[in-house]
Amino acid sequence: MSDAGADEAQFRAEVAAWARRLGVETRRVTIRAMRRKWGSASSAGRLTFATDLLTQPLEFRAEVIAHELLHLRRGGHGKVFEAVLRAVLARWREEQGGAPDDGRRPAETRG
Ligand SMILES: [Zn+2]
Repeated sequence: MSDAGADEAQFRAEVAAWARRLGVETRRVTIRAMRRKWGSASSAGRLTFATDLLTQPLEFRAEVIAHELLHLRRGGHGKVFEAVLRAVLARWREEQGGAPDDGRRPAETRG
């Protein structure tokens, strides 16, 4: 896996691929400077991602993208949300060539 970051077009393609994978539809995807969050999702299907997510590694981007898209199916951060997120990311990792889980757990809210 490449850790080189993504340009905006590549990032949007990643979001689109994850939306297909998770079976959700996005209405609008905005990429802008965000201080406190890596991303957010509205109930209307609008997603916002932080500009500096583009400089993060592929796996980190995948975590945040999958997290926000999953919110279009399910709100909150309950046990089911976390379990589904872990499962879809584990499958994705396998498809990427079985790269091990690096243990990083980016939350949508920055620490
Ligand atoms: Zn969240």
